[in-house]
Amino acid sequence: MGLVVRAVPNRVLYVEDNPENMTLVKRVLEAEGYEVWGAPNGPAALQMVRQVQPDLILVDISLPAMDGYEVTTRLRALKGQAQVPIVAVTANVMRGDRERSLAAGCDGYIPKPIDVDRFPEQVSSFLSRKLE
Ligand code: MN
Repeated sequence: MGLVVRAVPNRVLYVEDNPENMTLVKRVLEAEGYEVWGAPNGPAALQMVRQVQPDLILVDISLPAMDGYEVTTRLRALKGQAQVPIVAVTANVMRGDRERSLAAGCDGYIPKPIDVDRFPEQVSSFLSRKLE
């Protein structure tokens, strides 16, 4: 697997209602050269996604009003967003949650609390899968 050279930074849309998690993920990914857009809930993410044109979407599962599974299903249904990797970032790593996130259209999940040392590699692994 070679180095992927891009003219523009990878864009990440992160759907998260917890401001502390949002701040942490932004800090970690921006330090790695990503551009990170934050959406505090599903409806905001659905509104923003066409403008942001993210290379990857991170979705918290526990969100107000519309949970992360529904957000994922709705994002997948949008024209032009069928191919973007969507990764659940969730503390709900109970039996069945992985299957449920995959069924909703997620490509995988990253457990919370995030491990700041491993997080950039976990994120980039989903981007490189997209390029294969
Ligand atoms: Mn949450």
